[in-house]
Amino acid sequence: MLHLDSHPTGNHFLQIPGPSPVPDRLLRAMSLPTIDHRGPEFGRLGRRVIEGMQRIFGTRQPVVIYPASGTGAWEAALCNTLSPGDKVLMYETGHFASLWHRMATRLGLDAELIAAPHADELLPQAGHWRHGVDAGFIEARLREDTQGRIRAVCVVHNETSTGVTSDIAAVRAAIDAARHPALLIVDTISGLACADYRHDEWGVDVSVSGSQKGLMLPPGISFNALSPKALEAARSARLPRAYWDWEEIVAMNATGYWPSTPNTNLLYALAESIDMLEAEGLPQVFARHQRWAAGVRAAVAAWGLPTQCADAHRHSPVLTGVITPAGIDADQLRRIIHERFDLSLGTGLGKLKGRMFRMGHLGNSNDLTLIAMIAGVEMGLTIQGVPQAASGVAAAMAMFRDSAPAAPMTAA
Ligand SMILES: *Cc1c(COP(=O)(O)O)cnc(C)c1O
Repeated sequence: MLHLDSHPTGNHFLQIPGPSPVPDRLLRAMSLPTIDHRGPEFGRLGRRVIEGMQRIFGTRQPVVIYPASGTGAWEAALCNTLSPGDKVLMYETGHFASLWHRMATRLGLDAELIAAPHADELLPQAGHWRHGVDAGFIEARLREDTQGRIRAVCVVHNETSTGVTSDIAAVRAAIDAARHPALLIVDTISGLACADYRHDEWGVDVSVSGSQKGLMLPPGISFNALSPKALEAARSARLPRAYWDWEEIVAMNATGYWPSTPNTNLLYALAESIDMLEAEGLPQVFARHQRWAAGVRAAVAAWGLPTQCADAHRHSPVLTGVITPAGIDADQLRRIIHERFDLSLGTGLGKLKGRMFRMGHLGNSNDLTLIAMIAGVEMGLTIQGVPQAASGVAAAMAMFRDSAPAAPMTAA
């Protein structure tokens, strides 16, 4: 029996912004026997999860499910729609956008990483990592491209490295205003099932997501939601692809099967997750995350620490990035909090290493687990000698006490 000796009693506080804590109900679903992935029972499961994920993405078009982490679905989105040397416009919202850009370059695309400049006193080297996508900046760049060389615009919906969400409808409107034919490809790996998302309504051509964030599953499966225009682009796209190729998968998915072996037990959990999300109602799920995020921000404001997000309207409902005072190593703070209180927080990624930490507030949580997370951080700050203007715990308690939950959780 595997024994995790760092967590002797109680529950580990997994407060990183993905993987998020897995509900017991999903773990139980996963423990059912693995079945024949070519048998009749499997076809029903396959259809059920694909149709469920269409509703979660807000689409009537195909959703492809891969036994891979989100990174695999990033690659699938690019190699199914683009050809070697194609120009793509990517927007640098943070570390994940930068990693996706590196991948595009490695795949042989002519990938341009843009961001509107933002002077910033607190983080002079990463001012633009405190803001969401500036759709006007994308529109201007597309208008310059009078020959239509840019084949795709790629943006991250919820930038998990910073806690900043971007307005995808505004990016669609910018592409339309420029009358540009580029595909719109969106990473909503951590946004989906936490923040409002509408694949069809927002005119997204490929939406990329993963299992271990808002869907509350363990890591291991990921998604591409498609559009008719994306499927059309796939017919002439020449980047090499085999395993990731949509055509065969979409064809077989019509009857609920896959060309290769799908991740059977994770699909059980996915069916269960879709049931849980829909029993609560997606609007309630989104409101619940907004409310939690407001409670965590109330705590951060009480401490007197700045959030990584500098746009009042773009705070992520999924996680909050907190900038530590100069001279305080955020990773040292995280280590102390982990050792003393069995609480995991997200590290500062890329340019933000040591300068900030991330508090996840997504998925299988509740008001009290979040107050416990805030208490762990508050104790860690005190141990590290970080002065606090007021108690974050008290501020979050007041916020949760005085604001009614968006809707009662439906009994499981
Ligand atoms: C988690 C995440 C990824 C990477 O996904 P993996 O499952 O780790 O491969 C990419 N983009 C965003 C926005 C993420 O949150």
